[in-house]
Amino acid sequence: MYAAKTAGGHRWHWFDAALDEAANETARLSADLRQALPDEQIFALYQPIVELTTGAIVGGEVLMRWQHPQRGLISPDVFIPLAERSGCIVELGYWVLEHTCRQAAAWRDRYGDNAPAKISVNVSARQLAKSDFVDQMEVILRRTGMDVSRLVLEVTETAVFSSTVAARRLEQLKTVGVRIALDDFGTGQSTLSLLLDCPVDILKVDKSFVSGTAADQAGAIIVKNLIGFTTDFAIDAVAEGVETIAQADRLRRLGYQYAQGYLYARPMPAADFEHQFTSSAVAALTR
Ligand code: C2E
Ligand code: CA
Ligand code: CA
Repeated sequence: MYAAKTAGGHRWHWFDAALDEAANETARLSADLRQALPDEQIFALYQPIVELTTGAIVGGEVLMRWQHPQRGLISPDVFIPLAERSGCIVELGYWVLEHTCRQAAAWRDRYGDNAPAKISVNVSARQLAKSDFVDQMEVILRRTGMDVSRLVLEVTETAVFSSTVAARRLEQLKTVGVRIALDDFGTGQSTLSLLLDCPVDILKVDKSFVSGTAADQAGAIIVKNLIGFTTDFAIDAVAEGVETIAQADRLRRLGYQYAQGYLYARPMPAADFEHQFTSSAVAALTR
């Protein structure tokens, strides 16, 4: 059934032994995932978001990792879809939110304005569908002492597009003062009207248009034209997946202000990120 669904749905798929083995494998991984949080196998990495003109760190995105006891490090591209299917993304999502808020509040206490202005956390549609999501988030903010205006929640356009509940939740979040970033922009059933209908503060242009397969033809045109829309809507644009100096130069010329990508830094442990933003603040002061 899942093979048919994965291939786009509304179709049938012959059963075969290889599929059965794959399904078993997935089921095993899914079962293991339930133990991952209690067994402290889940951890978070931080990737800087920088200002294109100065290279100064203005924020960071938190990216979840799973250290499996037998299989080693498992990519979120593998385990997040499993967690979404089983529902345990809700629990994982609260964990990463609490972890992030606690860390960001501690940095703020310690470094004041030299701490990153914003910290971004990814949120799945399944989490937004929870009727008490906003209440739970507020509990976490209070418990950790995190200032709501520094929190950015990243949601994919597909999540918002495919559910009216998710769109309504964004309105609620906006009222509370959280910032919303529309993630992977350009990959789903993108409609620019989404920018009008939803309270979006930040648009993250998908890395496939910046450095990926679509970067040289259509992608280049999309990247070039999106910046005009974001400026008119007073939305900040972040270019994802910036890998080369040439890409960064081009984005800067087009008017992009913010970027994220391997050119600047790979996702890293909290201690390394802390080292980066404290030394980058020193560099800015002495510039
Ligand atoms: P995303 O939200 O689009 O995150 C950006 C991904 O791009 C990250 O992959 C990051 O490591 C990668 N990346 C950053 N710079 C570059 C670059 O210059 N080039 C290339 N090719 N890639 C770059 P990662 O960490 O493997 O995460 C994959 C996806 O898993 C994320 O995509 C996000 O959708 C999901 N994810 C990760 N952590 C969480 C989480 O805590 N909650 C939820 N719901 N999803 C998460
Ligand atoms: Ca993201
Ligand atoms: Ca993205």
